[in-house]
Amino acid sequence: MAIFPEIDLSKCDGCGLCVTVCEPGGLILVDDPIVAIVETAICDWCADCEAVCPTGAIRCAYEIVFDNV
Ligand code: SF4
Ligand code: SF4
Repeated sequence: MAIFPEIDLSKCDGCGLCVTVCEPGGLILVDDPIVAIVETAICDWCADCEAVCPTGAIRCAYEIVFDNV
């Protein structure tokens, strides 16, 4: 299973911005919960959804480490 960002649904107002920026289609808008993760989609860990969310509902709980070899 892919690693996805964590969504705090109590902070989500359903604006849909995260859905529009997610190129792999890993997020969808539904009624309840407001935003759901598509488990079969591939998350490329771009963190765009976290950056665009105006309410801070999305948290990418992974750390990107650059290999300076
Ligand atoms: S981190 Fe990127 S690919 Fe993953 S769910 Fe968010 S927008 Fe989509
Ligand atoms: S961008 Fe944030 S507030 Fe808007 S639908 Fe996505 S999780 Fe909810």
